[in-house]
Amino acid sequence: MYQKIIEYAEALDGKSRARRRDFHKYPETAWYEMRTSAIIAKTLTELGYEVLTGKAVCLETERFGVPTKEQLDEHAALALEQGAPADYMTEELKQGFTGVIGILRCGDGPVAALRFDIDALGLIEDSTPDHRPYTEGFPSQNPGMMHACGHDAHATIGLGTAEVLMKLRDHLHGTVKLIFQPGEEGAKGARPIVAHGHLDDVDYFVGTHVAPTGGPDDGDVTPGTYGSLATSKYDVHYYGQAAHAGGFPENGKSAIVAAANAVLNLTAIPRHSAGISRVNVGTIQGGTGRNVIPDHAWMQIEVRGETTEINAYMDEQARRICEAAAAMTGCEVKIVPQGASESQHSDLDFLKQIGELVREHLPQLKVSSCENAQNWGSEDISLMMNRVQAHGSKATYMRSMTDMASAQHTTAFDFDEKVLVDGIETFSVIVYDLLKQDEE
Ligand SMILES: [Zn+2]
Repeated sequence: MYQKIIEYAEALDGKSRARRRDFHKYPETAWYEMRTSAIIAKTLTELGYEVLTGKAVCLETERFGVPTKEQLDEHAALALEQGAPADYMTEELKQGFTGVIGILRCGDGPVAALRFDIDALGLIEDSTPDHRPYTEGFPSQNPGMMHACGHDAHATIGLGTAEVLMKLRDHLHGTVKLIFQPGEEGAKGARPIVAHGHLDDVDYFVGTHVAPTGGPDDGDVTPGTYGSLATSKYDVHYYGQAAHAGGFPENGKSAIVAAANAVLNLTAIPRHSAGISRVNVGTIQGGTGRNVIPDHAWMQIEVRGETTEINAYMDEQARRICEAAAAMTGCEVKIVPQGASESQHSDLDFLKQIGELVREHLPQLKVSSCENAQNWGSEDISLMMNRVQAHGSKATYMRSMTDMASAQHTTAFDFDEKVLVDGIETFSVIVYDLLKQDEE
Protein backbone atom coordinates (compact mmCIF):
# COMPACT_ATOMS: atom_id res chain seq x y z
CA MET A 1 0.00 0.00 0.00
CA TYR A 2 2.84 2.41 0.78
CA GLN A 3 4.15 1.92 -2.75
CA LYS A 4 0.67 2.69 -4.09
CA ILE A 5 0.57 5.92 -2.06
CA ILE A 6 3.82 7.01 -3.69
CA GLU A 7 2.39 6.20 -7.13
CA TYR A 8 -0.85 8.08 -6.41
CA ALA A 9 1.10 11.12 -5.19
CA GLU A 10 3.54 11.12 -8.10
CA ALA A 11 0.64 10.97 -10.54
CA LEU A 12 -0.47 14.34 -9.12
CA ASP A 13 2.81 16.09 -9.94
CA GLY A 14 1.67 18.02 -13.04
CA LYS A 15 -1.73 18.86 -11.62
CA SER A 16 -0.16 20.09 -8.36
CA ARG A 17 2.36 22.35 -10.10
CA ALA A 18 -0.46 23.89 -12.16
CA ARG A 19 -2.63 24.31 -9.09
CA ARG A 20 0.16 25.96 -7.10
CA ARG A 21 0.78 28.41 -9.95
CA ASP A 22 -2.90 29.27 -10.05
CA PHE A 23 -2.95 30.00 -6.30
CA HIS A 24 0.29 31.97 -6.71
CA LYS A 25 -1.18 34.07 -9.49
CA TYR A 26 -4.25 35.03 -7.43
CA PRO A 27 -2.94 35.53 -3.87
CA GLU A 28 -5.33 36.67 -1.14
CA THR A 29 -4.46 38.02 2.32
CA ALA A 30 -6.35 37.41 5.58
CA TRP A 31 -10.17 37.23 5.22
CA TYR A 32 -9.90 37.94 1.48
CA GLU A 33 -9.16 34.25 0.64
CA MET A 34 -12.46 33.99 -1.25
CA ARG A 35 -11.31 32.65 -4.61
CA THR A 36 -8.89 30.34 -2.80
CA SER A 37 -11.59 29.02 -0.43
CA ALA A 38 -14.15 28.61 -3.20
CA ILE A 39 -11.70 26.52 -5.25
CA ILE A 40 -10.80 24.41 -2.21
CA ALA A 41 -14.48 23.85 -1.33
CA LYS A 42 -15.31 22.89 -4.91
CA THR A 43 -12.38 20.49 -5.19
CA LEU A 44 -13.16 18.77 -1.87
CA THR A 45 -16.86 18.52 -2.70
CA GLU A 46 -16.12 16.95 -6.08
CA LEU A 47 -13.76 14.47 -4.44
CA GLY A 48 -16.59 13.40 -2.13
CA TYR A 49 -15.63 15.10 1.13
CA GLU A 50 -18.11 16.47 3.62
CA VAL A 51 -17.27 20.19 3.41
CA LEU A 52 -17.64 22.95 5.99
CA THR A 53 -17.39 26.59 4.90
CA GLY A 54 -18.27 30.09 6.10
CA LYS A 55 -19.42 30.50 9.70
CA ALA A 56 -19.24 26.72 10.19
CA VAL A 57 -15.43 27.07 10.04
CA CYS A 58 -14.63 30.33 11.85
CA LEU A 59 -16.59 31.41 14.91
CA GLU A 60 -17.93 34.86 14.08
CA THR A 61 -17.07 36.53 17.39
CA GLU A 62 -13.43 35.39 17.39
CA ARG A 63 -12.12 36.85 14.15
CA PHE A 64 -9.42 39.55 14.38
CA GLY A 65 -8.72 42.33 11.92
CA VAL A 66 -11.59 41.81 9.48
CA PRO A 67 -11.57 44.32 6.57
CA THR A 68 -14.51 46.69 6.10
CA LYS A 69 -17.65 45.62 4.24
CA GLU A 70 -16.67 47.87 1.30
CA GLN A 71 -13.23 46.27 1.07
CA LEU A 72 -14.73 42.76 1.23
CA ASP A 73 -17.37 43.58 -1.41
CA GLU A 74 -14.73 44.95 -3.72
CA HIS A 75 -12.58 41.87 -3.33
CA ALA A 76 -15.54 39.50 -3.80
CA ALA A 77 -16.20 41.10 -7.19
CA LEU A 78 -12.53 40.75 -8.09
CA ALA A 79 -12.48 37.09 -6.99
CA LEU A 80 -15.39 36.33 -9.33
CA GLU A 81 -13.69 38.21 -12.15
CA GLN A 82 -10.58 36.12 -11.53
CA GLY A 83 -12.48 32.89 -11.97
CA ALA A 84 -13.69 31.95 -8.49
CA PRO A 85 -16.33 29.22 -8.98
CA ALA A 86 -19.57 31.21 -8.58
CA ASP A 87 -21.54 28.33 -7.04
CA TYR A 88 -19.11 28.26 -4.13
CA MET A 89 -18.95 32.05 -3.59
CA THR A 90 -21.53 32.01 -0.80
CA GLU A 91 -22.80 35.12 0.96
CA GLU A 92 -20.80 34.21 4.06
CA LEU A 93 -17.65 33.79 2.01
CA LYS A 94 -18.19 37.22 0.48
CA GLN A 95 -18.35 38.59 4.04
CA GLY A 96 -14.86 37.28 4.66
CA PHE A 97 -15.76 33.99 6.34
CA THR A 98 -12.92 32.26 4.53
CA GLY A 99 -11.36 28.89 5.33
CA VAL A 100 -12.62 25.38 4.54
CA ILE A 101 -12.70 22.08 6.41
CA GLY A 102 -12.99 18.80 4.53
CA ILE A 103 -14.09 15.72 6.47
CA LEU A 104 -13.77 12.08 5.42
CA ARG A 105 -15.55 9.65 7.74
CA CYS A 106 -14.40 6.05 7.56
CA GLY A 107 -16.20 4.42 10.47
CA ASP A 108 -14.89 3.93 13.99
CA GLY A 109 -11.35 4.91 14.82
CA PRO A 110 -9.20 7.91 15.68
CA VAL A 111 -9.59 11.42 14.30
CA ALA A 112 -6.54 12.68 12.36
CA ALA A 113 -6.47 16.40 11.53
CA LEU A 114 -4.10 18.08 9.07
CA ARG A 115 -3.69 21.85 8.85
CA PHE A 116 -2.85 23.83 5.70
CA ASP A 117 -2.68 27.63 5.80
CA ILE A 118 -3.84 29.34 2.61
CA ASP A 119 -3.26 33.11 2.92
CA ALA A 120 -0.81 35.42 1.17
CA LEU A 121 1.30 38.33 2.41
CA GLY A 122 1.02 42.07 1.88
CA LEU A 123 3.94 42.44 -0.58
CA ILE A 124 4.42 43.63 -4.15
CA GLU A 125 5.93 40.77 -6.15
CA ASP A 126 9.30 41.18 -7.85
CA SER A 127 9.04 41.78 -11.61
CA THR A 128 12.67 41.33 -12.68
CA PRO A 129 13.48 38.89 -15.51
CA ASP A 130 15.11 36.33 -13.26
CA HIS A 131 11.99 35.88 -11.11
CA ARG A 132 10.41 32.67 -12.40
CA PRO A 133 6.74 33.52 -11.72
CA TYR A 134 7.23 36.42 -14.14
CA THR A 135 9.12 34.56 -16.82
CA GLU A 136 6.73 31.59 -16.67
CA GLY A 137 3.52 33.60 -16.51
CA PHE A 138 2.14 33.28 -12.99
CA PRO A 139 3.06 36.47 -11.08
CA SER A 140 0.58 37.96 -8.63
CA GLN A 141 -2.37 39.65 -10.32
CA ASN A 142 -3.37 41.32 -7.04
CA PRO A 143 -1.10 44.31 -6.37
CA GLY A 144 0.09 44.36 -2.77
CA MET A 145 -0.66 40.69 -2.23
CA MET A 146 1.85 37.89 -2.81
CA HIS A 147 2.39 34.27 -1.85
CA ALA A 148 5.86 34.90 -0.41
CA CYS A 149 5.75 32.36 2.41
CA GLY A 150 4.73 29.25 0.48
CA HIS A 151 1.12 28.94 1.62
CA ASP A 152 0.26 28.36 -2.06
CA ALA A 153 2.31 25.17 -1.63
CA HIS A 154 0.48 24.27 1.58
CA ALA A 155 -2.98 24.66 0.01
CA THR A 156 -1.85 22.57 -2.96
CA ILE A 157 -0.38 19.84 -0.76
CA GLY A 158 -3.67 19.77 1.17
CA LEU A 159 -5.75 19.22 -1.96
CA GLY A 160 -3.37 16.58 -3.29
CA THR A 161 -3.45 14.77 0.05
CA ALA A 162 -7.25 14.92 -0.05
CA GLU A 163 -7.22 13.17 -3.42
CA VAL A 164 -4.85 10.41 -2.30
CA LEU A 165 -6.71 9.78 0.96
CA MET A 166 -10.01 9.47 -0.91
CA LYS A 167 -8.42 6.63 -2.91
CA LEU A 168 -7.39 4.97 0.36
CA ARG A 169 -10.75 5.36 2.09
CA ASP A 170 -11.62 1.65 2.10
CA HIS A 171 -8.43 1.00 4.08
CA LEU A 172 -8.95 3.77 6.67
CA HIS A 173 -10.70 3.41 10.02
CA GLY A 174 -11.59 6.69 11.65
CA THR A 175 -12.01 10.27 10.51
CA VAL A 176 -9.78 12.59 8.48
CA LYS A 177 -10.17 16.35 8.93
CA LEU A 178 -8.41 18.63 6.48
CA ILE A 179 -8.31 22.16 7.88
CA PHE A 180 -7.59 24.89 5.30
CA GLN A 181 -6.88 27.86 7.57
CA PRO A 182 -7.19 31.52 6.53
CA GLY A 183 -5.19 34.40 7.99
CA GLU A 184 -2.06 32.76 9.38
CA GLU A 185 0.04 35.86 8.71
CA GLY A 186 -0.61 38.18 11.63
CA ALA A 187 -1.94 35.24 13.68
CA LYS A 188 -5.61 35.84 12.92
CA GLY A 189 -7.18 32.67 11.54
CA ALA A 190 -6.49 29.79 13.94
CA ARG A 191 -8.28 31.31 16.91
CA PRO A 192 -11.83 31.34 15.44
CA ILE A 193 -11.37 27.75 14.20
CA VAL A 194 -10.21 26.56 17.62
CA ALA A 195 -13.01 28.52 19.31
CA HIS A 196 -15.51 26.71 17.10
CA GLY A 197 -14.41 23.41 18.64
CA HIS A 198 -12.92 21.83 15.51
CA LEU A 199 -9.86 20.58 17.39
CA ASP A 200 -11.73 19.18 20.38
CA ASP A 201 -12.21 15.64 19.05
CA VAL A 202 -8.81 15.36 17.35
CA ASP A 203 -6.49 12.48 18.36
CA TYR A 204 -3.60 13.26 15.99
CA PHE A 205 -2.75 16.66 14.58
CA VAL A 206 -0.08 17.42 11.96
CA GLY A 207 0.92 20.55 10.07
CA THR A 208 3.94 21.51 8.01
CA HIS A 209 5.69 24.57 6.63
CA VAL A 210 7.99 24.74 3.62
CA ALA A 211 11.52 25.73 4.62
CA PRO A 212 14.78 26.33 2.76
CA THR A 213 17.29 23.58 2.06
CA GLY A 214 20.68 24.68 3.26
CA GLY A 215 19.17 26.12 6.41
CA PRO A 216 19.37 24.38 9.78
CA ASP A 217 17.43 21.37 8.44
CA ASP A 218 19.63 19.01 6.40
CA GLY A 219 16.93 16.68 5.03
CA ASP A 220 13.67 16.79 3.11
CA VAL A 221 11.44 16.41 6.16
CA THR A 222 11.88 17.55 9.76
CA PRO A 223 9.20 15.67 11.69
CA GLY A 224 8.79 18.17 14.54
CA THR A 225 9.49 21.73 15.68
CA TYR A 226 9.16 23.65 18.92
CA GLY A 227 9.46 27.08 20.39
CA SER A 228 7.46 29.49 18.19
CA LEU A 229 7.26 32.83 19.97
CA ALA A 230 3.94 33.60 21.61
CA THR A 231 2.63 36.95 20.40
CA SER A 232 -0.11 39.56 20.86
CA LYS A 233 -0.77 42.15 18.18
CA TYR A 234 -3.05 45.17 18.44
CA ASP A 235 -3.93 48.55 17.01
CA VAL A 236 -3.93 51.33 19.61
CA HIS A 237 -6.06 54.39 18.88
CA TYR A 238 -5.82 57.65 20.86
CA TYR A 239 -8.67 60.11 20.73
CA GLY A 240 -7.95 63.63 22.01
CA GLN A 241 -9.47 67.04 21.46
CA ALA A 242 -8.74 69.24 18.45
CA ALA A 243 -8.02 72.94 19.04
CA HIS A 244 -6.29 75.89 17.37
CA ALA A 245 -2.62 75.37 18.18
CA GLY A 246 -1.94 79.12 18.27
CA GLY A 247 -5.21 80.51 19.56
CA PHE A 248 -6.46 78.10 22.22
CA PRO A 249 -3.97 75.29 22.81
CA GLU A 250 -5.28 74.90 26.36
CA ASN A 251 -8.52 73.56 24.90
CA GLY A 252 -6.75 70.74 23.05
CA LYS A 253 -5.67 67.27 24.04
CA SER A 254 -2.95 65.92 21.79
CA ALA A 255 -3.42 62.35 20.61
CA ILE A 256 0.10 62.43 19.14
CA VAL A 257 1.66 63.32 22.49
CA ALA A 258 -0.23 60.38 24.03
CA ALA A 259 1.03 58.01 21.32
CA ALA A 260 4.59 59.34 21.62
CA ASN A 261 4.62 58.72 25.36
CA ALA A 262 3.38 55.21 24.75
CA VAL A 263 6.11 54.49 22.16
CA LEU A 264 8.95 55.60 24.45
CA ASN A 265 7.66 53.66 27.42
CA LEU A 266 6.87 50.51 25.44
CA THR A 267 10.52 50.26 24.53
CA ALA A 268 11.39 50.60 28.21
CA ILE A 269 9.50 47.50 29.40
CA PRO A 270 11.98 45.61 31.61
CA ARG A 271 13.28 42.38 29.99
CA HIS A 272 11.98 39.18 31.55
CA SER A 273 14.51 37.01 33.35
CA ALA A 274 12.86 33.75 32.25
CA GLY A 275 13.51 34.16 28.53
CA ILE A 276 13.47 36.32 25.45
CA SER A 277 10.84 38.94 24.72
CA ARG A 278 10.11 41.38 21.91
CA VAL A 279 8.20 44.63 21.47
CA ASN A 280 7.73 46.66 18.31
CA VAL A 281 5.75 49.71 17.26
CA GLY A 282 5.48 49.03 13.55
CA THR A 283 3.50 52.04 12.36
CA ILE A 284 2.33 55.33 13.81
CA GLN A 285 0.06 57.86 12.19
CA GLY A 286 -1.80 60.88 13.44
CA GLY A 287 -2.83 64.48 13.05
CA THR A 288 -4.34 66.50 10.25
CA GLY A 289 -2.33 69.73 10.03
CA ARG A 290 0.59 71.75 11.43
CA ASN A 291 -1.53 74.22 13.39
CA VAL A 292 -4.16 71.83 14.74
CA ILE A 293 -3.87 69.97 18.02
CA PRO A 294 -4.28 66.38 16.77
CA ASP A 295 -7.40 64.61 17.97
CA HIS A 296 -6.53 61.15 16.58
CA ALA A 297 -3.38 59.07 16.41
CA TRP A 298 -2.99 55.34 16.02
CA MET A 299 -0.28 52.76 15.90
CA GLN A 300 0.21 49.07 15.12
CA ILE A 301 2.14 47.30 17.85
CA GLU A 302 3.12 43.77 18.79
CA VAL A 303 4.80 41.98 21.67
CA ARG A 304 6.27 38.48 21.70
CA GLY A 305 7.62 36.06 24.27
CA GLU A 306 9.58 32.82 24.28
CA THR A 307 6.77 31.25 26.27
CA THR A 308 3.07 31.98 26.52
CA GLU A 309 3.75 33.26 30.08
CA ILE A 310 6.48 35.72 29.02
CA ASN A 311 4.22 37.01 26.27
CA ALA A 312 1.42 37.46 28.80
CA TYR A 313 3.81 39.59 30.88
CA MET A 314 4.73 41.73 27.83
CA ASP A 315 1.08 42.01 26.86
CA GLU A 316 0.03 43.20 30.31
CA GLN A 317 2.86 45.77 30.53
CA ALA A 318 2.15 47.09 27.04
CA ARG A 319 -1.56 47.54 27.66
CA ARG A 320 -0.93 49.31 30.96
CA ILE A 321 1.54 51.71 29.30
CA CYS A 322 -0.86 52.44 26.43
CA GLU A 323 -3.64 53.19 28.90
CA ALA A 324 -1.43 55.29 31.18
CA ALA A 325 -0.21 57.37 28.22
CA ALA A 326 -3.84 58.26 27.53
CA ALA A 327 -4.47 59.19 31.15
CA MET A 328 -1.38 61.45 31.19
CA THR A 329 -2.73 63.55 28.35
CA GLY A 330 -6.45 63.32 29.08
CA CYS A 331 -7.06 61.34 25.89
CA GLU A 332 -9.22 58.27 25.38
CA VAL A 333 -7.60 55.04 24.26
CA LYS A 334 -9.00 52.10 22.33
CA ILE A 335 -6.93 48.90 22.07
CA VAL A 336 -8.13 46.62 19.27
CA PRO A 337 -6.69 43.07 19.18
CA GLN A 338 -5.42 42.06 15.73
CA GLY A 339 -3.79 38.69 16.28
CA ALA A 340 -2.50 36.26 18.90
CA SER A 341 -0.61 33.03 19.15
CA GLU A 342 1.09 30.96 21.82
CA SER A 343 4.37 29.09 22.10
CA GLN A 344 4.29 25.54 20.83
CA HIS A 345 5.96 22.14 21.14
CA SER A 346 5.63 18.89 19.19
CA ASP A 347 5.11 15.58 21.01
CA LEU A 348 8.44 13.75 20.99
CA ASP A 349 7.09 10.20 20.68
CA PHE A 350 4.75 11.27 17.88
CA LEU A 351 7.43 13.08 15.86
CA LYS A 352 9.81 10.14 16.28
CA GLN A 353 7.05 7.82 15.01
CA ILE A 354 6.69 10.04 11.94
CA GLY A 355 10.47 10.08 11.41
CA GLU A 356 10.51 6.27 11.44
CA LEU A 357 7.59 6.11 9.07
CA VAL A 358 9.26 8.38 6.51
CA ARG A 359 12.55 6.46 6.77
CA GLU A 360 10.81 3.14 6.27
CA HIS A 361 8.20 3.92 3.65
CA LEU A 362 9.42 7.03 1.82
CA PRO A 363 13.09 6.19 1.28
CA GLN A 364 13.40 8.87 -1.41
CA LEU A 365 12.96 11.49 1.33
CA LYS A 366 15.68 12.17 3.88
CA VAL A 367 14.69 12.85 7.48
CA SER A 368 16.69 15.77 8.97
CA SER A 369 19.33 14.74 11.49
CA CYS A 370 17.75 17.09 14.02
CA GLU A 371 14.26 15.63 14.20
CA ASN A 372 12.86 18.37 16.43
CA ALA A 373 14.01 21.82 15.28
CA GLN A 374 13.55 25.23 16.83
CA ASN A 375 11.21 27.89 15.43
CA TRP A 376 11.93 31.59 15.94
CA GLY A 377 8.91 33.20 14.34
CA SER A 378 5.34 33.13 15.58
CA GLU A 379 2.74 30.72 14.26
CA ASP A 380 -0.88 30.42 15.23
CA ILE A 381 -0.82 26.68 14.55
CA SER A 382 0.30 26.81 18.19
CA LEU A 383 -3.31 27.49 19.25
CA MET A 384 -4.47 24.34 17.47
CA MET A 385 -1.61 22.21 18.83
CA ASN A 386 -2.12 23.43 22.37
CA ARG A 387 -5.84 22.69 22.21
CA VAL A 388 -5.17 19.15 20.93
CA GLN A 389 -2.47 18.52 23.52
CA ALA A 390 -4.63 19.93 26.33
CA HIS A 391 -6.91 16.90 26.05
CA GLY A 392 -4.00 14.47 25.94
CA SER A 393 -3.77 13.97 22.17
CA LYS A 394 -0.69 14.19 19.94
CA ALA A 395 0.45 17.04 17.76
CA THR A 396 3.45 17.92 15.64
CA TYR A 397 4.45 20.77 13.35
CA MET A 398 6.88 19.61 10.67
CA ARG A 399 9.08 21.32 8.09
CA SER A 400 9.21 20.35 4.39
CA MET A 401 12.46 21.44 2.76
CA THR A 402 12.85 22.77 -0.75
CA ASP A 403 15.26 24.98 -2.72
CA MET A 404 14.21 28.61 -2.54
CA ALA A 405 15.07 31.49 -4.88
CA SER A 406 15.02 34.02 -2.06
CA ALA A 407 14.14 34.10 1.64
CA GLN A 408 10.53 33.75 2.75
CA HIS A 409 8.65 37.06 3.12
CA THR A 410 10.75 38.69 0.36
CA THR A 411 9.46 39.85 -3.03
CA ALA A 412 11.63 37.43 -5.05
CA PHE A 413 10.46 34.35 -3.14
CA ASP A 414 9.91 31.18 -5.17
CA PHE A 415 10.56 27.50 -4.49
CA ASP A 416 11.21 24.16 -6.18
CA GLU A 417 7.77 22.64 -6.77
CA LYS A 418 9.13 19.16 -6.11
CA VAL A 419 8.08 19.79 -2.50
CA LEU A 420 4.41 19.49 -3.53
CA VAL A 421 4.56 15.74 -4.21
CA ASP A 422 6.94 15.27 -1.26
CA GLY A 423 4.35 16.88 1.01
CA ILE A 424 1.42 14.89 -0.41
CA GLU A 425 3.33 11.64 0.10
CA THR A 426 4.34 12.56 3.62
CA PHE A 427 0.85 13.50 4.82
CA SER A 428 -0.80 10.56 3.04
CA VAL A 429 1.60 8.04 4.57
CA ILE A 430 1.13 9.55 8.03
CA VAL A 431 -2.68 9.43 7.87
CA TYR A 432 -2.69 5.95 6.36
CA ASP A 433 -0.41 4.70 9.11
CA LEU A 434 -2.53 6.28 11.86
CA LEU A 435 -5.88 5.02 10.55
CA LYS A 436 -5.06 1.72 8.85
CA GLN A 437 -5.41 -0.42 12.00
CA ASP A 438 -3.82 -3.81 11.47
CA GLU A 439 -4.53 -4.46 7.84
CA GLU A 440 -1.04 -5.49 6.89
ZN1 LIG B 1 4.12 30.96 6.48
